[in-house]
This record gives sequence, C-alpha cells and structure tokens, in this order.
Amino acid sequence: MARYHGPVCRLCRREGAKLFLKGDKCYKPSCPIEKRGTQPPGQHGALARRKALVGYGQQLREKQKVKRIYFVLERQFRNYFERAARMKGVTGENLLILLERRLDNAVYRAGFATSRRQARQLVVHGHIAVNGRKVDIPSFQVNVGDQISVREASRRIPQVEAAWQTAAGRGRPSWLVPVEGEEMSVRVARLPQRDDIDRQINEQLIVELYSK
Ligand code: SF4
Repeated sequence: MARYHGPVCRLCRREGAKLFLKGDKCYKPSCPIEKRGTQPPGQHGALARRKALVGYGQQLREKQKVKRIYFVLERQFRNYFERAARMKGVTGENLLILLERRLDNAVYRAGFATSRRQARQLVVHGHIAVNGRKVDIPSFQVNVGDQISVREASRRIPQVEAAWQTAAGRGRPSWLVPVEGEEMSVRVARLPQRDDIDRQINEQLIVELYSK
C-alpha cells in the first residue's frame, strides 16, 4: 500500500480528531479542527452527519487513526501488533510503546521536528545520530540510555532550529531528557509508558480487531 501524500488535515477530519500531522499549525487557531470542528471532509462535509460507529467499524477506524498518527503502513503496523502480542504485559499498551519507541517518533517528541512526517524526513536524509552514529532508519527502536542527536552539520537547518525552540516552550515527555552541555541532543532516560502517550487512543479496539 502506498504512503498517503494528500492533504493531511483531511485525515484528521476523517478520523474526527486532531492527529497533529502538520507541525506548528496544529497548535494554532488556524487548525481546521479548531475552526470547523470535527465535521467530515468533502464538499458536503458540513451537511453530512458523522455516524456513530460500533463494533468492527469502530475498531477499524481506531486502527487507521493510530497508523496515521505514527505514519506507518498496514504491514508494518501488523508486524508491531504481532510483536506486541508476543511480549509480556498488555498487548495494546505494548503496541503503543513499540510505536512510541520508533526513532522518527523520538525525534519528533524530542523537538527536532514539528511533526512525525518532518521527523521521518530528517531521519531518512541522515540528519540524526544515535550514540554518535548516523541512523537513517525511521523504524529503529530507541532504548534506555541511547543518546539521540541532530548531527552537527545539520543543526543550523532553519526548520530544525525553529522546531527545537518551539519544543522548549511546549515541553518534552519526561522519558527524553536534554543532554546538558550538548546542543540538540536528548537521552532516553526510561522507556515510554502508556501515560506518556495520547489518551485519545483506545488501543483495546485494535486488539479486538486483530483478535478476530
Ligand atoms: Fe490535524 Fe494539524 Fe491539520 Fe489540525 S492542523 S487538522 S491537528 S493536521
């Protein structure tokens, strides 16, 4: 399945929730969800009533929503689920934690990028290092003690500088701690937990979908 390259705000309106796909705009009143609410996309969106989903439909939408938030494809998502199911603990929580540990997500959370999409680009284009070595694989799983940095030659990229400043004001999750005395560098202080991840996700619906 191809990656989606259309207007991303449409995806938020499709899911009826803010998925934070567009960087700074997501935090401004110009966000279409802030302006127009959660009406469905399309010419007649304002007239269409959102149907109350139940059962399979609700489970499917929740899976689509999480895939879109983390910017992963169906096959990858399924692989994460299978891995989560083999791990000890609660499968739904394991799934979200595996997604949260992706390098592109950590780059976004650290504040090197204003969206996961931008974070993915930074990783793929070789601007990110883990423990001093370039890593250009967005799905790389970060671990406790890893130091994630913008590579020195990339620190003056205007978008990275702007994202870093914005993140300082907005705050970072407590599992990523800025490294003292080093510019644009964070350390993974602990693995992310369920409480660090968006409350608006109902991961149990995804478990039910894949358990059929
Ligand atoms: Fe979603 Fe961000 Fe667009 Fe708002 S601005 S609709 S949160 S992508």
